[in-house]
Order: sequence, then structure tokens, then C-alpha cells
Amino acid sequence: MENKLFVYNTLSRQKELFVPINAPHVGMYVCGPTVYGDAHLGHARPAITFDLVFRYLRHLGYKVRYVRNITDVGHLENDADEGEDKIAKKARLEQLEPMEVVQYFTDRYHSAMDKLNVLKPSIEPRASGHIIEQIAMVKNILNAGMGYESKGSVYFDVEKYNQAHNYGILSGRKVEDLLSNTRELEGQDEKRNSFDFALWKKAQPEHIMRWPSDWSDGFPGWHLECSAMSTKYLGDQFDIHGGGMDLLFPHHESEIAQSTVVNHKTPAKYWLHNNMITINGTKMGKSLGNFIQLDEFFAGDHPALEKAYSPMTVRFFILQAHYRSPLDFSNEALQASEKGFQRLLKSITTIERLVPSPASTTDMEALQSKCYEAMNDDLNSPILIAHLFDAARIINSTFDKKETLTAGDISLMRTLMHTFVFDILGLLPENDPQAGNQVISKLVNIILDLRREARTNKDWATSDRLRDALVQAGLTIKDTKEGVSWELE
Ligand code: ZN
Repeated sequence: MENKLFVYNTLSRQKELFVPINAPHVGMYVCGPTVYGDAHLGHARPAITFDLVFRYLRHLGYKVRYVRNITDVGHLENDADEGEDKIAKKARLEQLEPMEVVQYFTDRYHSAMDKLNVLKPSIEPRASGHIIEQIAMVKNILNAGMGYESKGSVYFDVEKYNQAHNYGILSGRKVEDLLSNTRELEGQDEKRNSFDFALWKKAQPEHIMRWPSDWSDGFPGWHLECSAMSTKYLGDQFDIHGGGMDLLFPHHESEIAQSTVVNHKTPAKYWLHNNMITINGTKMGKSLGNFIQLDEFFAGDHPALEKAYSPMTVRFFILQAHYRSPLDFSNEALQASEKGFQRLLKSITTIERLVPSPASTTDMEALQSKCYEAMNDDLNSPILIAHLFDAARIINSTFDKKETLTAGDISLMRTLMHTFVFDILGLLPENDPQAGNQVISKLVNIILDLRREARTNKDWATSDRLRDALVQAGLTIKDTKEGVSWELE
């Protein structure tokens, strides 16, 4: 842990030396998905960004408790306090129990994350499993005089809070500006101010997800779940709170306000936010028709995609941009990533074929230091990848006998590439599915040749046995006039 890691803290708006509150332990909370639809490219970026943070902290020797929640209640449409709960709406449309929707999309999310080689968090709590903690927090906020009840719902009193603290400490927004900018929305008459946010919402009669409370049968506000669950699993104050930039306001700003009232502390020491992904220069959105799901990327099954892109190509593409920079998707950019990643992988296999020399033309330790410097500078993965491409070039030119490496340096090179490419960037060597299919084809044709021989020899028993074996393995065999054709189901 002699490495000095600097991270950009959104709270202080500058790069800071990362010093955990209670080293070697690190607590990290990241806002997870609202599970009412399939994971898309927008989900991949925060997941991969904080997977990189998780992996690197562990590599540096920290013991990280990584909590990433599943939002399964309370996230209303348009992220506002009005409108239908996103999960409840999906359940109503599909005539499903809300928890069926949650389970289905949570499983789908997990499977997409597994494909992207995103490590599982240490704890993955669900909002609906923490209603008691959230109700307790609402009571605390009411007792502190920072909330008020209105028609069975409870709201956070932003103006009152702002008199003692700073609502805007994270986002830099000013309550006065909010006042003049907020549109009057339907149902806002329950609130003292339009920017007050719901801690508890009374459920309308048709609302199926509801729990009893002192105020009404209802459900918790969206911002509350993260405050309740981060406090429960990481304590009043923990090291890192992460999420997408789109969550900075009002979600994270409100989390800070809630925790400040209840725990008398800013919940996290470092706030990290990843930037967003645009598609061909435009924002992603369902209405824009450019909401490309991850499975559509992997299958090449979307009109905007020229071809399928493997999970590792998508991962490499995301890591080729710094997490705080915007990232624009285009087929061209992804195809360049695909080529680059293959080049990197190929160089790693070439290491095993290098012949050692008595002296090296490369300073391997200097190269290794540069890789760490890049990561320590706010997890600068694109600079790291540039150094890894440099390493790939050295490997290739050593193989071509234009440069040299000693046996010790070849071994350092192997460690460097494996550590940074596989362990820290979390990339995996991919099997070319075409190559797999080619092997299967060859094997099937060998067996069919044997069967043809058996039939020529009138050895019907062997011929049938071979045919049955292929059918059992899942193949459809057709004997036609032209010969035998087969298909894998
Ligand atoms: Zn959150």
C-alpha cells in the first residue's frame, strides 16, 4: 500500500490522496440499478467503473466491503415524487407480481454483469428488504424537525435544512435558484416547497407495493433507501460513495442531507461519479430509440449495430475512456476497441514464445511504475492502456528480434500484463466462437465419415449407434440423395 492513490472527489471538487477512515478496511457504496428493464449500455459504465475501483483497491491490499444496492421500490417515473413506481408500472402492464419483475430483471442484470466480468459486490441489499430501517430514519428526521407530514406522506424540509447546513454542498446548486427553477407539478400542494423530497409516500389505492407505517400504508422515497442501507452496512461514515453523474442531484445531494440529519455526518469521505455514455453524439433514452441493451450488443441484434460485439470488447471500450470523461458510442469506435483488445491479447500469448537475451533494451521496472502512476492518478485507465499497448509493441518487437529482454524481464513482462490486463482491468481472454464451431464441424464430419464406412460395410449396428450418438448430442441428421446433412440445434 505504498502506492499513493489520488481520486477526484466531487465533494471537494479536486483530486485528493485516498486515505481510508479505517485502513486496511475500505467501505464503498455504489447506487445500483432500478430493476424494471434489461441492462443497457448505460448500466455497464458505472458497473465497470466501480469494478475497476474495487479491483484496484483490492490489488493495493485493502479489504473492501463493496455494497451495491438493487432498487426494487420507491423509484418513481421521471425521478420525481409524482408518477407511478417504475417496478409497479411494469408489474401492472405485464400482470405480474412486482417481485416477479424484480427477480426477473435482477437475474438478467446479474447475467449481463457476469458476462462483462464485473465482480459481485460484497453485499447487494434490496430496498424492499430494508423498510424497517427506512421507517426508523424517517422518524429520526421528523424528530430532528427536518421533515413534515402532509396527507399521509412525509417530506424532507429542504429550506429548513439549508438554514443549518448546505443543501447543494455536492452539486453546487443553490436552494434559491431551485426555488425559481422548479416547475409546479401535479400534487405539489402536499409540499411546502417544490424541491422538498419524499421520505415516505402514501400509496394510492391501486398501488400494490405498500407497507404499514405511522403515517399511512405506503412506501419509502427513493433517496432514503441508499441512506438507510449504506448506514446499516458501512456505518455512519464510510470511505467511497459512487454512482453515475446523473445521480448527483437530487439523489446524492438528498442522501447527504438525510444522513447529515440522522448521523450528524456527511455519509462518505470521497464521492466518485462516472460520466455518461452518448450514442453517436446524442443522449441515450428510450424515446430516442437508441437504448441499446447489453444482450443486443452481444448478439448484434439492434438496428444501430453493424455487428455483434463481445462483452470484453464492450468492457475494453468503456475502459479506454477515463471514467470522468464522456464516452460516445459508435460502431467505428467499438470496432477499433475490438481490434486493439485482440492485439493486446495476442501479445500476451506471444510472451510465452520469447527467447531471452543476455541484456534488455527496455527498462521493465520503469514501465511498471508508469502503469501504477496512471492508475494512481484517479484511475486513469486510458493512460494505463496506452502503456500496455507500448508493452505489446515491445513484446512483438522482441519476438521479431528487433529488441531484447532478459529472462527476468520476460517474467516481469508476463506479470505486468497479467496483473494489469486480467486482474485490474478485469479483461478476459475470449474464445472465438467461430473457432469453437470449426472444431465441432470437424469432429462431426469425422463421425459421419465413420458412419458412411460402416454403411458401406453393411455394418448397420455401428452405423445406427453413431447416428443415435449424434442425435443424442443434439444434432439433427438428414440423409438425402446428395449425402448426409446435419444441423446443431
Ligand atoms: Zn442511491
